[in-house]
Amino acid sequence: MPHGHVPHLLIIGGGFAGLWACRALAGARLHITLIDRRNHHLFQPLLYQVATAGLSAPDIAAPLRHILGRQRNVDVRLGEVTSIDTHARQVVLGDGSRLQYDLLLVASGATHAYFGHDEWATDAPGLKTLDDALQLRRKLLLVFERAEAEPDPQKKAAWLSFAIVGGGPTGVELAGTLAEIARHTLKNEFRHIDPSSARVRLVEAGPRVLSSFPERLSLKARRQLEKLGVEVLAGTAVTGIDANGFQLGGRHIPARTVVWAAGVAASSLARTLDTPLDRAGRVQVQPDLSLPGHPDVFVAGDLATLMQDNGRPVPGVAPAAKQMGKYVAALIRTRLDGRPAPPPFRYNDQGNLATIGRMAAIVHIGRLQLSGVLAWWFWLAAHVFFLIGFRNRLVVLLNWAVAYWSYRRSARIILGDPHDSAAPTPPQAD
Ligand SMILES: Cc1cc2nc3c(=O)[nH]c(=O)nc-3n(C[C@H](O)[C@H](O)[C@H](O)COP(=O)(O)OP(=O)(O)OC[C@H]3O[C@@H](n4cnc5c(N)ncnc54)[C@H](O)[C@@H]3O)c2cc1C
Repeated sequence: MPHGHVPHLLIIGGGFAGLWACRALAGARLHITLIDRRNHHLFQPLLYQVATAGLSAPDIAAPLRHILGRQRNVDVRLGEVTSIDTHARQVVLGDGSRLQYDLLLVASGATHAYFGHDEWATDAPGLKTLDDALQLRRKLLLVFERAEAEPDPQKKAAWLSFAIVGGGPTGVELAGTLAEIARHTLKNEFRHIDPSSARVRLVEAGPRVLSSFPERLSLKARRQLEKLGVEVLAGTAVTGIDANGFQLGGRHIPARTVVWAAGVAASSLARTLDTPLDRAGRVQVQPDLSLPGHPDVFVAGDLATLMQDNGRPVPGVAPAAKQMGKYVAALIRTRLDGRPAPPPFRYNDQGNLATIGRMAAIVHIGRLQLSGVLAWWFWLAAHVFFLIGFRNRLVVLLNWAVAYWSYRRSARIILGDPHDSAAPTPPQAD
């Protein structure tokens, strides 16, 4: 780099990896551009709360411009990157314009995968963005209204039949919360249906739910789910999905609401990098998170895959993405200062938490294994702690306090035309 030239770092994605890298470079002699196709950073672990009307959108998201407003070396840009040209050191944006970089961090994350059945996406939407969550919330609230107005008992039952595909943390959280809404929140509010008769099925192809936890905890989670009224169907894969239900082991099960919470597919940007990818399309990075053959390009977060010493890949979770982002920032600082590079990236596993419902969760940290109420308090404290920095963490706490005492969910307003089930949520929908 020419003497006196201020290097330009381009960061694609203001999620956990991109944002944490950017913040760790505050004050560095760099010009940083953070580009994201959305104007906000999103706390995805609580997305299911927005989808189930427990929290509002701004409770779990904050504008990137606001978060980085005081960091003088950063420019925030709203835009979608469509490809990366590592030879010309440029990224191409959706409008055809190009941005030059000296250093690049690609942190555009991942989304859900339908295992080759993308046609299921219409009838079984997934949960990744705030738009997804608001659409799902609308759908969940509307199906109870449809059931209330439906005279045919069979059709009524289909409106009150829910299926969540995928028994990972998101599937478990959604299923548990839905069962709670049906059995408690909506109690006494309808005259022509009994919301507690709703069937919530959680379908998992593998032998158990929450398979990343020890078997003992995963069994406890299953029992807690069943106590809430969720039917857990493990060891069977869904083989078809349509507007009226889903296919399981040769049987068609009527369900007007199917939610997809399985599979991971890396952001399609990875395919433009001309580098080896794993089966989920993630970039196989070097131990210092750089792209093979390109020491000035880094990939971090859900988009990157890296083997740990224990033979397992670094998991696709928020703490791993933050640690990767911070590692890239530290490495860039050493380069700027002409110091030796830090040792290779190592993931520091801080434990695994999952919530199942009101006062029910599981926690696995080293040798510590907790379940039930204690685990739930732990989960709550961790999530509120990580929300710190967001304007309304107090609002979130208050909302939860009220919800957990009274089973009330505060964000149950249906916006848009209630007769148009496909109507998009209006932009002002909180
Ligand atoms: C519903 C859900 C629940 C989860 N629950 C948990 C949990 O409880 N605990 C946990 O640890 N992890 C959880 N995760 C996983 C965790 O959120 C991810 O591991 C983490 O977000 C990865 O961070 P990232 O920075 O790699 O990607 P992301 O946080 O996904 O950020 C990627 C960013 O890139 C932007 N972007 C994408 N493509 C482009 C493009 N082409 N151009 C410009 N910008 C682009 C996106 O808008 C986004 O802001 C959950 C994920 C989901 C979806």
